[in-house]
Amino acid sequence: MAGYDPKGIEAKWQRLWAEEKTWEVANPGQPGFDDSKPKSYVLEMLPYPSGEPHVGHLKCYAVGDAIAHFRRRHGFEVIHPMGYDSFGLPAENNAIKTGEPPRVATERSIESFRRQFREWGISIDWSRELATHTPEYYRWTQWIFLRLLERGLAYREEAPVQWCPKDATVLANEQVVDGRCERCGTPVEQRRLEQWFFRITEYADRLLADFDLLESWPEHVVTMQRNWIGRSEGAEVTFRCEELELDFPVFTTRPDTLFGASFFVLAPEHPELECLVAGTPAEAEVREYVNRVARESASERGDEDREKTGVPLGRSVVNPVNGEQIPMFVADYVLMEYGTGAIMAVPAHDSRDYEFAQAFDLPVRRVIEGEDPEAARDPRGLPYAGDGPMLDSGRFDGKHNREAYEEIVAWLAAEGRGESAVNYRLRDWLVSRQRYWGAPIPVVYCEACGEDGAPAIVPVPAEQLPVELPEIDDYAPQGRSPLAAAEDWVATECPRCGGPARRETDTMDTFVDSSWYFIRYLDPRNDAAAWDRAAADHWLPVDQYIGGVEHAILHLMYARFFTKALADLETLTVQEPFANLFTQGMITRDGAKMSKSKGNTVSPAEYVERYGADTARTYVCFMGPPERGGDWSDEGVEGVNRFLSRLWRLCEELVEREVGELDPAASENEVRELLAKAHWAIDKVTRDFQRGFQFNTAISAVMELVNEAYRLKDGLYGDPAGVAAVRFAAATAASLIFPFAPHLAAEVWERLDGGRVWERPWPVADPELLASDSFALVVQVNGKLRDRIEAPAEASEAELLALARESEKVQRHLDGKQTVKEIVIPGKLVNLVVR
Ligand SMILES: [Zn+2]
Ligand SMILES: [Zn+2]
Repeated sequence: MAGYDPKGIEAKWQRLWAEEKTWEVANPGQPGFDDSKPKSYVLEMLPYPSGEPHVGHLKCYAVGDAIAHFRRRHGFEVIHPMGYDSFGLPAENNAIKTGEPPRVATERSIESFRRQFREWGISIDWSRELATHTPEYYRWTQWIFLRLLERGLAYREEAPVQWCPKDATVLANEQVVDGRCERCGTPVEQRRLEQWFFRITEYADRLLADFDLLESWPEHVVTMQRNWIGRSEGAEVTFRCEELELDFPVFTTRPDTLFGASFFVLAPEHPELECLVAGTPAEAEVREYVNRVARESASERGDEDREKTGVPLGRSVVNPVNGEQIPMFVADYVLMEYGTGAIMAVPAHDSRDYEFAQAFDLPVRRVIEGEDPEAARDPRGLPYAGDGPMLDSGRFDGKHNREAYEEIVAWLAAEGRGESAVNYRLRDWLVSRQRYWGAPIPVVYCEACGEDGAPAIVPVPAEQLPVELPEIDDYAPQGRSPLAAAEDWVATECPRCGGPARRETDTMDTFVDSSWYFIRYLDPRNDAAAWDRAAADHWLPVDQYIGGVEHAILHLMYARFFTKALADLETLTVQEPFANLFTQGMITRDGAKMSKSKGNTVSPAEYVERYGADTARTYVCFMGPPERGGDWSDEGVEGVNRFLSRLWRLCEELVEREVGELDPAASENEVRELLAKAHWAIDKVTRDFQRGFQFNTAISAVMELVNEAYRLKDGLYGDPAGVAAVRFAAATAASLIFPFAPHLAAEVWERLDGGRVWERPWPVADPELLASDSFALVVQVNGKLRDRIEAPAEASEAELLALARESEKVQRHLDGKQTVKEIVIPGKLVNLVVR
């Protein structure tokens, strides 16, 4: 009898799937298109090809592949494509270090990813493969850019931007984490530069409202996006500096506290600051302060507990509600990104204003009655952020602040001093990068076509796309794009007037490439259009998207924005790209995040070599609920490998035995017992799939089935009907484990049944055999398993508790202890919490 040989089995099936193009699907109108089946678009986030795939990739694609297989066997026509997010900084930084062109390193890495995906047996439609760095792809990225430009959704503007000094490029706000570059961790600097932006802010309300169109997204991802967009309602109120005749609008969510404003604060980046202090005694001190703040991170500045600092400007503004002159300050706790970069400070009702008032000895004037003992820092119960009757507020005295809110805004509007307003934290998406390895921005600058000494921005006509990335020798950024040195490329002809013009040398943020790749998969070889509308209409939206939670606000929000903008351009019908989202948890080792520097990484290739792809795939799905993380354990891998070997050996035994008719009504107890277990496993695995992909418990149910077959087989091998029962159990186990271990399952199924398991419908549990009048009650003490007791299916909570307490094994752990809590899950478990 041959042992389990994953290498031979896996190679055999991979060859067959490749030769027969088993996982390829046709588009509407193409030969082979099957319109009798409902469609399902199953997609994992495309990998960034750098070096070799890591264990996070293995998990992501193993999870996605299980879902794809499950859907196929439920009668869906499943589209399951693959590609590479192949522009970006790591390849370019490597090029700067080694001189190797980014294209070479990237393509070598793609080769390695492709080979390993095939070796893992992932069921990919390879006819749709794409890579975002190829001109066939980025031609259409450029085309989308031009459509956005045409619509006014792409624009160029001088703006304060976040600059990473190490990568020598600007970053999108979303790429700055705690004041540091998301890529390299270097503290970012502020600069004023002309940059390209996408007008995502125009979509802020739709991005919020359309959460309703999503079928199932993790709540925390929706919350993160909601917070990032940061919509708040309030009023814009204008304060005037009469001396200089300058108006300072502020956005406030608390116009009901306007009468309590006792000073006014500008952010250090406020554009009018210069003009306020120029030539005054405050100038030197303000300048020094602003320079110091420029080196602080946003999170330092946002820190609630930090001592408040600032500088008086020696100027004042008029509070529009009472005509009072209040002093102006500059302080770093006010951020330019929020509202207008200026605030009215109400120290009695805002804790940060309160602290600033304490530090600078400014008046604190209560205008709302009430007390919040938790927040209060002084005997008067201030600062107080709650609601209550208003006082010292002129005509509004005595009114409840919430009721007066609208009235105050209406009154300000009538007086021409303000209006109701909505503020967003979201800023436009900065998409230009002063780097080489990205899609060139397809515009040229022409002096002759320009006006007032400024060159005109002339779009490259669509028929001249792609604007190809030239080959260069020096990739090192010098504060401008390395492309600027490619003089032959930069100097071009103006498409409008035919005169000399210069190309834009910035490239696009790679998040632009990944904002639409899921549409290109639907029609990847089209060289006349970005996609065929009928193909996009048929396959979109993505029915199940799978990827890491780290993309909650970057990729996932950009792709939503693109989808809406492309729908507005009448190139798509859907408003949302991803109907369902599943975020898989991170795999750790020895409790720590894997990293090369810690030396605790796991190489999937090494495990696939040693145990086979089926073991590696099944293990990453089994190590814990896939949405949560899990800690890698070599013993765990071996355990999964043993289980697959046992299934293999069972199959080997069975093919040598004479089989009779399978008789579910058999009187023999053991036949019935094993069939019941098989149907229980069918039911369990099916429900675990449907219940948010609980793969760990699904796989564990198949393990139980195999164990039960081993326990009963010797008694059943005596007669052919008994053999049939064991054979049914083994074939069922193969069928159910197929989404995780497709090669072994295909082999076992073929040997037992003669057919192809992936062409078989997913099994359905027989309710007759499922019905059981008892179940195994799990009994825990302080969360630890202490016993399993056969309990009547209909037992009440009290009866289950009594049963649990009767167990000797449980009593040993209760002795002399006091029960503080009893948790009963009927049909399942009792947990006694003692101390
Ligand atoms: Zn950086
Ligand atoms: Zn021109």
